[in-house]
Amino acid sequence: KEILPEPSGDKKTDLGYDVSAIRKDFPILGDVVYLDNAATSFSPEPVIDAIIDFEHNYRANIGRGVHRLTQISSQKYWHAHEKVATFIGGESGITVFTKNTTEGINMVAGGISWNQGDRIVTTILEHHSNLLPWRALSKKGVFVDVIGLNSSYSPDLSELKKVICPQTKLVAVTYASNVLGVVTPVKEIAEICHENGVMLLVDGAQAVPHMPVNVTDISCDFFVFSGHKMLGPTGTGVLWMKEASIEPLFLGGGMVESVTGEGFTPESGYKKYEAGTPNISGGIALGVAADYLSGIGMDAVREYEETLTNRLIERLKKIPGVTVYSPGRPEDRIGVVSFNVEGFRPHGIAQELDENADIMVRSGYHCCQPLMEYLGLKEGTVRASIGLYNTMHEIDLLIASIEEIVG
Ligand code: PLP
Repeated sequence: KEILPEPSGDKKTDLGYDVSAIRKDFPILGDVVYLDNAATSFSPEPVIDAIIDFEHNYRANIGRGVHRLTQISSQKYWHAHEKVATFIGGESGITVFTKNTTEGINMVAGGISWNQGDRIVTTILEHHSNLLPWRALSKKGVFVDVIGLNSSYSPDLSELKKVICPQTKLVAVTYASNVLGVVTPVKEIAEICHENGVMLLVDGAQAVPHMPVNVTDISCDFFVFSGHKMLGPTGTGVLWMKEASIEPLFLGGGMVESVTGEGFTPESGYKKYEAGTPNISGGIALGVAADYLSGIGMDAVREYEETLTNRLIERLKKIPGVTVYSPGRPEDRIGVVSFNVEGFRPHGIAQELDENADIMVRSGYHCCQPLMEYLGLKEGTVRASIGLYNTMHEIDLLIASIEEIVG
């Protein structure tokens, strides 16, 4: 069944780049309409090739020995950190490879030296991964304040200012919501943090794949994201830190310079935080994913995805019985679009889209149950999330399929 005829209308240079050419790099595209990019993205050939190259030509552990293969492997793995640091404007900080965003946040939660009575502020928008690691600190006497949203679904900054107190040590906020698509004012939040001597962690999982990001410009202390959502392999992610201000959560081989009878001296830089054998090929391929995105240009990605998102939201809103949960202004959102259809359960819509139209969307709580409760959405939402390789044609197929379901 041919569900994706060559979309002639998508070959437009005024949309920033030639999407038909880009699509040829993604071998998995074509059989389905993939609109679940917020969960994980597809990888292009250069990323896949990097993994195969490692396995075929130089597979060896890193930093342990002098032979040729380990030299190549170590060099490429180290270089991938540099590429990723450059991609997020974080050359002056420490770029640690993790397995995902969740691991990065847990490393910060476990690595800060907390005192009884310390407080953390987060928002109701957060993914469970940016909530549970903080909540778990209650056993150390550290407590979490959760702020609400304003009418544009953005964190209420007046509430943030009110809730920050002398005991507040950290603010943890998402850069872009994986449910509502809202882009949060992280620079303004950073200023509030600086004024109050509070550290800032930004969850960039949904921002990095879709817009230009500069961690130095944001001026945050910690920035976490997932490689697998930005065209990289699964099992890859990043924790960027302004400086080595936290203790390493994991100890062992690879993170020590020397070990004595009594103690050890840790390595410096990212190595201090990467104990054990890492996902070497994954890390190298993540560097290639960063190169691939830079090659297209994140401004172009942002502009292109915005055009698709605007069309999706506009057309969804015209379907009787459909409610869209999304900020009004295009500049305030990324291509993560949550909606519900009156009389249908979110899972029912997602299943019908898959079975009848080969369209993959997400449904349910999207790992944001407190947000769903806050919004009064008992069964969550249907979520279509756009990637740089999606087309207008695919957006139109989704709309047509929903119109058909609604009847
Ligand atoms: N934070 C946000 C905003 C997310 O969207 C996600 C994943 O959907 C995560 C954190 C967790 O990412 P991972 O599962 O890669 O750790």
